[in-house]
Formats: sequence, C-alpha cells, structure tokens
Amino acid sequence: FCSRSTNLIKRLYHMSKYTVEIPNVSIGQYILNGFNKRDDKIALVEGITDKKTTFAELHEQIQHVTSNLSALGFGPGHVACLCGFNAPEFAHVFCSVTLLGGALTIANPQLTAGELQTQVNETGTSVLFVTPDCVEKAKVVSQTSKQIRHVIVVGHHHELPTLEKLMRPRPHVTPVVVDPASHVALLPFSSGTTGLPKGVMLTHRNLVAELAALSHEHFLPFGDGDSSLAALPMVHIAGLVIGLLNPLSQGAAVVTLPRFQPDTFLASLEKYKTTFSLIAPPVVNFLATDPSVERYDLSHWRTPYSGAAPLGKDLTETVVRKLGLTGLRQGYGMSETSPATHTTPLDWWKYGSIGVPLPNTESKVVDIDTMATLNAHAHGEIWVRGPQVMKGYLNKPEATRETLMEDGWLRTGDIGYYDDDGHYFVVDRLKEIIKYKGYQIAPAYLESVLLQHPAVCDAAVVGKAHPVHGHLPTAYVVCNTSVTADDIAQFVNMQVAPYKRLRGGVNIVKELPRSPSGKILRKNLL
Ligand code: AMP
Repeated sequence: FCSRSTNLIKRLYHMSKYTVEIPNVSIGQYILNGFNKRDDKIALVEGITDKKTTFAELHEQIQHVTSNLSALGFGPGHVACLCGFNAPEFAHVFCSVTLLGGALTIANPQLTAGELQTQVNETGTSVLFVTPDCVEKAKVVSQTSKQIRHVIVVGHHHELPTLEKLMRPRPHVTPVVVDPASHVALLPFSSGTTGLPKGVMLTHRNLVAELAALSHEHFLPFGDGDSSLAALPMVHIAGLVIGLLNPLSQGAAVVTLPRFQPDTFLASLEKYKTTFSLIAPPVVNFLATDPSVERYDLSHWRTPYSGAAPLGKDLTETVVRKLGLTGLRQGYGMSETSPATHTTPLDWWKYGSIGVPLPNTESKVVDIDTMATLNAHAHGEIWVRGPQVMKGYLNKPEATRETLMEDGWLRTGDIGYYDDDGHYFVVDRLKEIIKYKGYQIAPAYLESVLLQHPAVCDAAVVGKAHPVHGHLPTAYVVCNTSVTADDIAQFVNMQVAPYKRLRGGVNIVKELPRSPSGKILRKNLL
C-alpha cells in the first residue's frame, strides 16, 4: 500500500528529486562566504570601461560601504531603493543594505518620477541609490518624498554624494544579526495575479534558499573558469539574483553591461569569453535572426539561460543550431519566488519546457474551476511551494491571501502542464499582467491612467500577442465626448515609463464586456 500511495503522490505533484541545505545566515553573509579563497580572482568587470575588481577588493569595498552607510543612519528595518542602468556597484549596494539589516527595493530606470515616487513612498525608502542618468528624476522624487534622507549616485556626479565616497576606508561595523526566516531583504515590485504593482517581501532565507538551489550541480553551478555576462536589468529580480548574485556567491566573475545592446553584448561575450548569460526571449530572437551574430566567436558561451517570458521549441532549436551551442536552457519563476522555481536540468534538456522544480521545491498543476490537482498532460494553473516563496505582499494582506495559500502553495497565475517525465511547460497566462520584452506591465495601472483622461469613462487594457516582444498593451475605452484614439494614446504614453506605452493601440468602443459581478472580461477583448 505504501509504495502505491507514494507513486500516486509522485504522479500528482512533484517534489524536486534534489534537496540542498539552506544555511541559516543573512543573504549578505551568504554572498560574502562565497568569496572565500577567491581573493585574487576577478569578481566584477565593467564591460564598457574594462574596470576590474577582485574578490578581495570587493569584500573590502563592501565593508567600507556598509560602515559609511551605517554612519549615515541607515540600519535595521530601513529601506533603500536602487534605480538605474546596470553597474558593477549594484553588488556593493545590495550587500551593504542587507548586511545592515535593511531591505532593498529595485526600480526600473525607465520609470517616470511619479512612478518611482509611488514605489519609494509605498516602501518608506530613506536612501535612494541612482545611476547618473536617473539623478534628475531622483531630485524630483526626493523633493516631494520627505522621508528620503540621502540620494547617492552610483557613478560620477559633481554635486551629489557618490557610492565611491562611501567606499572610503572607515572602521568596520559588525553586520546586524537578522532572523533570516522573517527579516525582509529584497522588495521587488510585481502586480501578481491582479491589480496594481505591489512590494514583494523576500526574506533573507528566501534568497539564501534560491542561491543554494541554483548552485546545485544539476542547475546553475559555476566552476573554475566560468563567468557571467549581465546585460539584462539588474533592477529586475532575475537580473539581480540570477545574473549577478548567483555567480558572485559561487566565486565566479560577472561582467556587467549597462543594458542590452546587440553589438556590445556580442563583443563582450567574445572578449571576456563568458560561459553563462541570463537572456530573455527577445534576445534569443535577435540571436536567431540577426546576421551580425556570425561575426563573433561565441564558442565559450556554453550555457545561455533564458527566462522572464515563454520561449518556444522552434526558436530554441534555430539558435542552438546557428550558434553551435551545447544547448539553451530555460528558467521559470516570478518576483514572488525569488525568482526561479523551475529550470532545465543540465543533464536533461527538453526544448520548449521550463524544466523541472529546483531543489527543495514542489510544483503541481491545479484545475482552475475545481481546484483539483491534475495528472500529467492536463492543463491547469501551476502552483509552487518551497523556501524561496515570498513572505507576502507589503501592506497588502488581502492580495497575499489570494496568492499565497495557508499551506504554503503559491498560485502563479500561469497555465501549464507537466509531461510523464515531470518536465513543465507554460502555455498561457491566467493572470492579468502583460509581459512586453520580459518587462511586467500591470493593466490596472494603465487603466487608472486612462481614466484620468476627461473623455474616458471606462477602460480596459489587455496584451495583444506579438511574435517577438511577447504582448503589446492595448486599450479599449468607452468615451463620453468626441476624442480620437491618438489623443488618448498620447495622453497615456506621455505619463508612463516608455516600456509601458500603449504599443497595441487604443480602440474606442461602445461598452466593455463585463461579468455579472462587474469584472472586465479581458479574454473577450483579445
Ligand atoms: P516577473 O515577476 O516579472 O518575473 O514575472 C513573472 C512571470 O513571467 C511569470 O509568472 C510568467 O508569466 C512569466 N515567465 C517567467 N519566466 C517564464 C518562462 N520561462 N516561460 C514562460 N513564462 C515565464
């Protein structure tokens, strides 16, 4: 009886075959422990300037930044915000903030001042770190958000304090003792399954568990000679945790680029002979279609890893063939799960699949009407449970209850299935979020902006499928006076971050399809 019931459980939902130990330390300490014995090895390279930092220097610099930040009054329970294009010093900011018992919230540099301000206010940010191109925005935000005590520039600036100044030697402070299981270390923003973007509370233990799982020999281990090229935004959870912190915590070098630009990306892969890089499906598409790719020697690039949005089998096969790669793997997850829950194992590739649950992680597929747990091949909502699953949404207990079940299962809002081998596939999205080029866009947010237009009395935003970019935000509006679709599009596009613009257009309609309870039936608009 015992073995039959075990088999049944295995068929219904999947506990990872693998387990890893989760050290009971703060995330900052976990990362610093990974630097051990790597002293003279290169830790960080700024890909544009070729400026290099060894692990010994990085360790020392992080200790100075921690001490100087503490002297500015930053401490346990405080929140710092990091907004900017990638720089190697994002590692210093993350480690110092968390070593002092604070939490870091991360913000896309494309956000408007108003959008950044909302995030800063919701999190109670007291220190704002920005790269030079975001200084003007930071000034606007700090003038109105009075809780901001310091704006610190990551890079050169003639007027404001810089991170370099915080690297000046100062007697070391002892890292703050935290309870890894309850203290929040990172606060990315995500709209989750519905509504406006919310702060996602990730604890030290969530992040330590994620890094420990990724470093498992079957998933994303970094050996001697391995290195990572970080070109995707490190102010997105995947860029930060997978692109930057995972390699560093394993003692591997990270080459950073401010952003993805085709030529510099390819040239850096060739120059630094990086073996790993986190990429997103639009980058994979570029690699498949752009002839310039053939001019570069990418033979060192053994394990590109795509995440953030769906990646089909055909496109994967094209790129693997064209570049002569060993393979192209996928990672799947969300801000709420630190982020990865599934990854293609190194020894078992299936293109089009998001892989299998990471060590210590459970995953199942649930019928969206009956909530019954489904067998292999049946489509339903993917649910996950594991030590990387968030503590909850910041100050949003109701949204937390809707997403995170009492027994620890998290509803991902993604539709998928698993095959007979336990490999998972994502086929659709149940939740509202739109993903454009891997960036999250909350329809509820664009709808709130549309409703500020004097002529708009009802609005709905949906994602129109695009072959390369994922989905384009597309508006449907009911108007009470004469106005053109272009006027409305312009009104919105001027007020939102460039990636949130209504690229799918604006449609003026007589009424919106709504359920008897008044909920917009978004699927009817697609
Ligand atoms: P974010 O919180 O911004 O990381 O967005 C998480 C969402 O991105 C997931 O719930 C999925 O809808 C989508 N996503 C992430 N990775 C993948 C993947 N490999 N395949 C399909 N969708 C993905």
